[in-house]
Amino acid sequence: MAIENNKVVAFNYTLKDDEGNFLDSTENGAPFSYISGNNQILPKLEEQVNKMVIGSKKTVKIEAANGYGEYDEKSVQQVDKTNFPQDANLEAGMRYIANSPEGKQMPFTINKVEGSQVTIDFNHPLAGKNLEFDVELVDVREPSPEELEHGHVHGAGGHHH
Ligand code: ZN
Repeated sequence: MAIENNKVVAFNYTLKDDEGNFLDSTENGAPFSYISGNNQILPKLEEQVNKMVIGSKKTVKIEAANGYGEYDEKSVQQVDKTNFPQDANLEAGMRYIANSPEGKQMPFTINKVEGSQVTIDFNHPLAGKNLEFDVELVDVREPSPEELEHGHVHGAGGHHH
């Protein structure tokens, strides 16, 4: 009864860490949709969602190492303010994207601003967190030929273009 690959799967979720702190939820929006078998969500989460039947609910626990990785102190750096555009809003919690020398986009978070020094953190915001997803499987359907071709879901909970 597992969900086959290349289906459009829609689910509602509430995400908490293992201390019960709220992290994210689909509660006020459309269900989250993805195309199965395409590594579009955490593999451990997809593994469990694949075993659900439509309309059922399940709590899926994922350890940090299988989620967004362990928190890596080496991914925290200090840079001078002059590395940012003059009009940049430099405040703790702000998210920016840096370009690596290879032209790769690397998102980071500002942890601290002290004098001319800015502490930036390339860890994923959910790194180091053991995750608990409360999942409700809402729908499984065939993708449209266009969705398959684009490799993503269109409409509510997906891409609009
Ligand atoms: Zn598209």
